[in-house]
Amino acid sequence: MSSYTVINPATEEVVTDVELFDVEGTDDAIARAADAQKAWARRAPAERAQALRDFAAAVDANVEALARLETLNSGHPIGQARWEAGHVRDVLTYYSAAPERLFGKQIPVAGGLDVTFHEPLGVVGVITPWNFPMTIAAWGFAPALAAGNAVVLKPAEWTPLTSVRLAEIGRESGLPDGLFQVLPGHGNVVGERFVTNRTVRKVVFTGSTAVGKKIMAGSAEQVKRVTLELGGKSANIVFADSDLERAAASAPSGVFDNAGQDCCARSRILVERSVYDRFMELLEPAVNRVVVGDPNDEATEMGPLVSAKHHASVSSYVPDDSQVAFRGSAPQGPGYWFPPTVLTPGRDDRTATEEIFGPVVTVLPFDDEADAVSLANATEYGLSGSIWTRDVGRALRVSRGVEAGNLSVNSHSSVRYSTPFGGFKQSGLGRELGPDAPLSFTDTKNVFIAVEELS
Ligand code: NAD
Repeated sequence: MSSYTVINPATEEVVTDVELFDVEGTDDAIARAADAQKAWARRAPAERAQALRDFAAAVDANVEALARLETLNSGHPIGQARWEAGHVRDVLTYYSAAPERLFGKQIPVAGGLDVTFHEPLGVVGVITPWNFPMTIAAWGFAPALAAGNAVVLKPAEWTPLTSVRLAEIGRESGLPDGLFQVLPGHGNVVGERFVTNRTVRKVVFTGSTAVGKKIMAGSAEQVKRVTLELGGKSANIVFADSDLERAAASAPSGVFDNAGQDCCARSRILVERSVYDRFMELLEPAVNRVVVGDPNDEATEMGPLVSAKHHASVSSYVPDDSQVAFRGSAPQGPGYWFPPTVLTPGRDDRTATEEIFGPVVTVLPFDDEADAVSLANATEYGLSGSIWTRDVGRALRVSRGVEAGNLSVNSHSSVRYSTPFGGFKQSGLGRELGPDAPLSFTDTKNVFIAVEELS
C-alpha cells in the first residue's frame, strides 16, 4: 500500500500519513459493500430510518471534532467548518425520512393492478473533490443509503481526513459493517475502479469538468448511472436599480468564501455601466474588510488555499505585471495564502472565462438587460448566479434567462439541503439534495398483476 502525506495548508506542517487503497483493496471493499447492501435493503424501512437518525446523532456529538479536523486538513475557518459538520448532520436527518416515504405509484390499467417500486441500485461509488470534503460527501452518501444502497466513497487525495472519520462515526453509530466505506486513494486508481468495477451501479462525481467527462465516457461502457457536479464561472449581475450598497457589501462573500474554492463562487461580477464607478467605490472597502488569517481564529472569514500546487495554479492567473484593480490582505510567512483580488479585464480575457477556483474576481460592465443575460450565458458552465434588482419582473425574466441550475435574487445563497442543486450545460448532469435525491439512487420497476374478472 502506498501512502499520502497530508499537509496543513495554513502552516505547511505535516499532519499525518494516510494509507491509500490499490485496485485489489478497492475490489474487496466493493464486494463487502455488495454483501452489506443486500441485508440493508431487506431491513424494514423504519429500521433504516432509525439507523440514519442514529448516524446523524453521532455526527452531532462530533461536530466540534470534525470541524477542528477539517480546519487542520483543509484550512477552512473554524466557523465555516462547524457549519459544514452541522450540515452533514442535517442532511442525514433530512434523508432519514426517505426510507419510509419512497412511494411508488398505483396506475390505472385494464385487467389488473399496476404498481411501481423504487428499487435500490446496489453499490454506489461517490468521488469527492477537496474543496468541501464533508458536505459534498454527505450529499452523495445520505440519500444513497436512505434509498437502500451501500456506498463506497473516495475522498480527494489532499483532504481525506474528515471523510475517513465520518465512516468511523457511521460504524460507531451502528451502521452495518461494509455498508458505508471510505477508501482514500488516487483518482486514477480507486476512482477509475469505481467506473470499471461492474458491481458499482452508479458513480456520483463532484470535481472538474475534464475528469467528469472521462467518468461519463467510461461509465457508458456499462451504461452505468452517473451524477456529475462539475465546474462553474458564475455571474453576479448587479442592475442600476438594485440596493447598490448591499450588492457591493455582499459581493466579496459571494466569491471569496472558502477562499474562492467554491464551485458556486460568483467569480464574474457584471455591473450595469451607469453605476459601474459607484459600485467599484463601494466594493473596494468591502474587499478590504474580508478578514484573512489563522483558520483557528473565530474572527477569520477566509483561510489559505488548499495546497502549494493549487496556489501555483491560482497565481498563474495573476502574474506580477497584471493589472489589479485592488486587493485585500493576506498573512505573510508559511501557508498557501492568497489575498482577495479584484480584476477588471476585457470580456475575453482568460481570467473572465476560466474557472480560477481561488479568491480572484473579475468585474465587467454591461449595457442593458439583454447584454447582461447574454454575457452571463457566454460560458460553457451553468452552475449558479445572483441577480440584484428591485424590479420583480426583471428578477424573474433574468432568472429564467440565465442558463444555470441555482440562482438567487438579492442574495448569494445556493445550497440548502431541502432544495435541488446541480448544473446546466457543462456544470453537470443530474441533481443532488432536495426531496427527490433518493430517487436518483433507484431504478423504477413496474409490476402488473393480472386480476381475473369474475364471470
Ligand atoms: P478533480 O476533478 O481534480 O478531482 C475530483 C475527484 O476526482 C478527486 O477525488 C480525484 O482524486 C478524482 N479523480 C481524478 N482523476 C480521476 C479519474 N481519472 N477517475 C476517477 N476519479 C478521478 O477536481 P478537484 O480539483 O478535486 O475539485 C475542484 C473542481 O471541482 C472544480 O472544478 C470545482 O468547480 C468542482 N466542484 C464542483 C462542485 C459542484 O457541486 N458542481 C462542487 C465542488 C467542486
